[in-house]
Amino acid sequence: METFFESIGEKKFRARQVMKWIHHEGVTTFECMHDISKALRKKLSEITTINLPEVVKEYQARDGVKKWIVRVASGSLVETVYIPEKNRGTLCISSQAGCILDCSFCSTGKQGFNSNLTTAEIIGQVWHAVHAFSHGNNQNSSRRYVTNIVMMGMGEPLMNFDNVLPAMDLMMDDLAYGLSKRRVTLSTSGVVPGIHKMTGRTDVSLAISLHAATNDLRNTLVPINRKYPLEQLLDAVHCYMSSLPDKKRVVTIEYTLIKGVNDQLLHAQQLITLLKNTPCKINLIPFNPFPHSGYEKPSGNAIYFFQKQLLNAGFNVTVRKTRGDDIDAACGQLVGMVSDKTKRNTRYLQKAAQSDIQPVKIVG
Ligand code: SAH
Ligand code: SF4
Repeated sequence: METFFESIGEKKFRARQVMKWIHHEGVTTFECMHDISKALRKKLSEITTINLPEVVKEYQARDGVKKWIVRVASGSLVETVYIPEKNRGTLCISSQAGCILDCSFCSTGKQGFNSNLTTAEIIGQVWHAVHAFSHGNNQNSSRRYVTNIVMMGMGEPLMNFDNVLPAMDLMMDDLAYGLSKRRVTLSTSGVVPGIHKMTGRTDVSLAISLHAATNDLRNTLVPINRKYPLEQLLDAVHCYMSSLPDKKRVVTIEYTLIKGVNDQLLHAQQLITLLKNTPCKINLIPFNPFPHSGYEKPSGNAIYFFQKQLLNAGFNVTVRKTRGDDIDAACGQLVGMVSDKTKRNTRYLQKAAQSDIQPVKIVG
């Protein structure tokens, strides 16, 4: 933005003023930016616009979770979810309309892929959530509602690296949302070149969607594993983590537990062996069902048993609570409305039509 202001013959510091107006104050019309001269405000209105993605619907779950359906320039609808907890509020952001990677247990993947979100569409989701909580109160109190941001909504963030990285920079920038690097998390299913590109470029927290500890099983759940197998993935993770100055930081391992598929004693033992040299915390996610997935959620006992194995082996393990499922806002339930370019959606709907099970509900 500084370059932009210089290119129109203005001083660089105008960029700081406009940033604060947009992100701190939630102001998106130049006329209201009263510490900028009238002449410059008029000029800015003539040559540029501040565009936000449009919120087309908002849902509130019984447990306080909120979901916004957001229309992006490609016409697709994507989803943003806010999860309040006792001492924090986590915002889950989408990075793509759909996802090309087609993990077998993920409803976003079943929607196919339409487009990458722009940096503005990614940070625009944060803007909407933060300013939805302002209710005319002073800005500092409303900003505290969003204490953490996770790139765990629709899409694979590392398949949209060039838009996601600048958006995460803004999440951490004091002129925008000022979150600490520990509170901004990128979750990836294992796009190894993307993890290498992050190394030295950013210091956000990293989460890996692992879901299996052997290549054979992971190939069936997370197809990108066929291209970048576990050995390469863990190498990339170690490179990234060792590039961070604070050696106490650890990678988060996400492991979606699916009944009879990856939730047995043997799977826990394989996971323990695989991760023995990787400082990490493990987050177990009970599978969130969606129609025609072909998978089931394990019982509470099975989840507890799996967690116990890992705890006994000395790992830090948490089980993610299912939140917002009455508004389809839980992990892997985000579908938005994506006009698929891959034909996968058509195949999925055909398959669903041949059975008596209804396809995923299209929200919006
Ligand atoms: N593409 C990225 C981020 C979005 S998915 C990634 O895969 O990491 C966010 C998390 O939800 C991932 O860990 C993903 O594996 C998990 N997930 C997807 N579908 C799920 C489902 N049906 N039940 C539970 N977790 C799911
Ligand atoms: Fe894409 Fe992540 Fe879903 Fe896999 S789990 S299909 S990478 S959004």
